[in-house]
Amino acid sequence: MKRILVLFRNDLRTIDHPALNQAGRDGEVLPLYIANQPRQQVHASDWFLHYQLIDLKQSLSELNLPLCMAKGDTISVLRQLIDQFKIEAIYLNQMHIEADGASDQAISGLAKKLAIQIKFFEANTLVSLHAILTHQNQHYKVFTPFWKRLIQADIIKPSSAPASYHAIDMAESSSLKIEQLNLLKDSIWTTKFAHYWEPGEKHAHRLLEQFISHALPHYNEKDYPSLAMTSMLSPYLAVGAISPRVIWNRIVEQMLLTEDQRDRIIIEKQGWAFLRQLAWRDFAYQQLAVYPDAKTKPLKRNFNQFPWLQDRQLFDAWQKGETGYPIVDAGMRELWETGWINNRVRMVVASFLVKHLRIDWRWGQAWFEETLIDHDQANNVLGWQWVTGSGFDAAPYFRVFNPIRQAEKFDPDGTYIKQWLLELTDLPTAYVHHPIKTPEMILKQANLELGKTYPTPIVEHEQARKQALAAYDIIKEGK
Ligand SMILES: Cc1cc2nc3c(=O)[nH]c(=O)nc-3n(C[C@H](O)[C@H](O)[C@H](O)COP(=O)(O)OP(=O)(O)OC[C@H]3O[C@@H](n4cnc5c(N)ncnc54)[C@H](O)[C@@H]3O)c2cc1C
Repeated sequence: MKRILVLFRNDLRTIDHPALNQAGRDGEVLPLYIANQPRQQVHASDWFLHYQLIDLKQSLSELNLPLCMAKGDTISVLRQLIDQFKIEAIYLNQMHIEADGASDQAISGLAKKLAIQIKFFEANTLVSLHAILTHQNQHYKVFTPFWKRLIQADIIKPSSAPASYHAIDMAESSSLKIEQLNLLKDSIWTTKFAHYWEPGEKHAHRLLEQFISHALPHYNEKDYPSLAMTSMLSPYLAVGAISPRVIWNRIVEQMLLTEDQRDRIIIEKQGWAFLRQLAWRDFAYQQLAVYPDAKTKPLKRNFNQFPWLQDRQLFDAWQKGETGYPIVDAGMRELWETGWINNRVRMVVASFLVKHLRIDWRWGQAWFEETLIDHDQANNVLGWQWVTGSGFDAAPYFRVFNPIRQAEKFDPDGTYIKQWLLELTDLPTAYVHHPIKTPEMILKQANLELGKTYPTPIVEHEQARKQALAAYDIIKEGK
């Protein structure tokens, strides 16, 4: 029987894992996960990864497969294990983008050098990334035509598992213990995540079902942070605990299964709105695969000249949620506490950083990378370039969100703000979006001392907007 090593990366699951499934049909299997060199600092997403790996080990053991865990440089580890276990083939799902560890090409290069077989599978996106092309065979730069093309394409059906697996014998000592991967190294901060999250493949599927029965019919309210009408599947998608194709197929199935005509109209409308959001993820992967330097370079090159401010004090106030703009502060404090904020609030806080404070989007991107439990390189890069206006399909820089209006619109009674800013609990709703306008007597009644118990705004909106536009004027195309 062929001896096959299955390399797990951002696909930490057993359901719809084409590389694992095919390896099971083709020979004896050794599942492997390699943690790359330890980081200086633990990231929020490392907490999720740690528990997802424990879950993967359990799910694999139910299939009679051991999980080998290793750490270090991917190529060196692979080289050593291929030799130790007399591996004849590597099967893996394509990653397309360069994340931590080695790229698809580097692993391919190693297999070629060692003269062993390598097989790549499509698993992490809805469609093969290079299948969605314009009539001129180019990749799309704008989302809407990409989406129109995607819905005409065949969404890959989830792969089926073999009846049973044959494992390559592995002594327990050949694998590191999960603690040795050091994913929770000295982290006091991430311990609180257990209150909010339950990693695991089965839980991801349960969450999808809960979303379908409770929130999907109200997905049009997804922008209201206090209503929580989104799936919250992002951390599971980021580590691959659930596959996007499983989600797509389940939503389409739900549309077909809904018998009552009125319910069906609602599910179809909201279902498509949700799938469109899910397709943004494919779009982000395609953009990063085609423009790998987008992590550090603006896609619109004129943004290279933008006069960003290097103001550590303003950045610090933003990170801590002390800007004096309640919706921004609530978002940044929720992020620190739970590792997650909804898409609307991400847009509001990110826009505040790059427009009101004129701080480089790469600083914000790095902070999100550290603090988001669902950190996903493609989505994060695309999200920041979208908000900045430097992406190909992006909010124009000159359209500056007014954080007070955004809060009035998406958190009208201040429920969300008061959930995260306890110091504003007793402030009447009429003032919760702009405490600075509160009359002295009401401030007293609400036990609020501006500048002491809650900050005064660190910049004035109208002035900040004008300064942002003046800065943008310098880099406008054609200037
Ligand atoms: C500045 C900024 C940074 C972001 N960084 C990340 C990140 O690191 N990781 C991440 O997963 N998402 C990121 N997003 C996208 C989006 O905010 C999250 O995917 C979404 O809020 C996750 O919540 P959910 O799973 O409940 O979403 P749902 O609305 O339930 O959507 C389901 C899934 O669709 C995908 N999706 C939804 N909206 C988007 C979008 N705008 N762009 C790309 N994919 C989307 C996600 O995979 C999401 O889990 C970022 C957005 C912005 C504006």
